[in-house]
Amino acid sequence: MLNDITTTGGMSIDRTHRPKDGSAVGGYLISGLVRNVTKRQIDVMLDTSVVDIVMEGGEVAAVRLLTDEQETATIQTRSIIVATGGFSANSEMVVKYRPDLAGFVTTNHKGATGGGIALLERIGAGTVDMGEIQIHPTVEQKTSYLVSESIRGGGAILVNQKGNRFFNEMETRDKVSAAIIALPEHYAYIVFDEHVRVKNKAADEYIAKGLVTSASTPAELAAKLGLDAEAFQATLTRYNGFVEKQDDEEFGRKTALRAPLNEGPFHAIQIAPGVHHTMGGVTINTDTCVLNANKRAIPGAYAAGEVVGGIHGGNRIGGNAVADIIIFGTLAGRQAAQRAQQVPWAMLESA
Ligand SMILES: Cc1cc2nc3c(=O)[nH]c(=O)nc-3n(C[C@H](O)[C@H](O)[C@H](O)COP(=O)(O)OP(=O)(O)OC[C@H]3O[C@@H](n4cnc5c(N)ncnc54)[C@H](O)[C@@H]3O)c2cc1C
Repeated sequence: MLNDITTTGGMSIDRTHRPKDGSAVGGYLISGLVRNVTKRQIDVMLDTSVVDIVMEGGEVAAVRLLTDEQETATIQTRSIIVATGGFSANSEMVVKYRPDLAGFVTTNHKGATGGGIALLERIGAGTVDMGEIQIHPTVEQKTSYLVSESIRGGGAILVNQKGNRFFNEMETRDKVSAAIIALPEHYAYIVFDEHVRVKNKAADEYIAKGLVTSASTPAELAAKLGLDAEAFQATLTRYNGFVEKQDDEEFGRKTALRAPLNEGPFHAIQIAPGVHHTMGGVTINTDTCVLNANKRAIPGAYAAGEVVGGIHGGNRIGGNAVADIIIFGTLAGRQAAQRAQQVPWAMLESA
């Protein structure tokens, strides 16, 4: 159950559902998915790529597969659901649409290559919003590890190398990223205390991975990071006053003014923006049918998740991809199953 609610950048109130213990949502959802796949004895072919979609008479008829041992296979099917994700990890494709993102790290997995978009384009799919690529402001650059927005949503702040806050941390990802890029050092520190850590299990994960610099006092943390200790302490005192008044008169932060940052140990992670999410992708209709360039459904082809474009516009709000993949994934499953059941398998096999 995602029965805890927090906030992410751009929200006016807490809206992001997450696991009760404040852990990251991805691992939680995938464990549930794996449990269900095992229980229902669903075949999963790992290390296997779909390399081609075969069309017959203008309808999906089969997919061609390639295993990591270079074995090929063809599976006949009346329906396919393409859920191959976005293209954040394909830097050539990212730079084709957004030359300004050359050299950026990505938070995404290596399979986020946009291969599914290419597969669908080969059977005529249209695309939309391909240049809408989201950079996430808080990425540890040596490991490309994402520091979840829930840490800022839990009360963390961002400071520059001088030890000063420089922007409303709860603005949308594009604006916070732009503010970090505009700093002379092009990076910042996400700073939090024990109040934040105990309520956000993800923080313990970052500590365990060695991404976090911790110290028992702000002065000691400043010394470890090379910040101006006086400026840093003044930043904390000022921010804590804003929390007390629930009014950030310096940068206009309206949300996640949760608790004063005054309980040691104090923690910081050096971060900078990284390519995170691609909002562009193939076009679908409200039944998740893939549409061709003339907006007509391609019979048998369904798509859901980050491979699809046009769902989030130009600026995905944190947490909304979970809603996207679950709602459109469920819809696609129903549609594809319904179509597959229209013709008995026996007839398909003898066809
Ligand atoms: C670090 C990180 C944290 C995030 N946290 C959040 C969050 O807290 N809340 C939120 O809402 N969103 C979050 N997101 C975004 C969200 O996780 C993604 O948008 C979502 O997982 C996309 O799901 P998907 O199923 O469409 O694609 P993916 O999860 O990318 O899965 C696609 C799969 O298809 C495989 N594949 C690709 N091509 C082929 C092929 N040809 N044949 C076979 N398989 C193929 C890939 O290898 C991959 O396994 C986060 C993203 C990242 C990177």
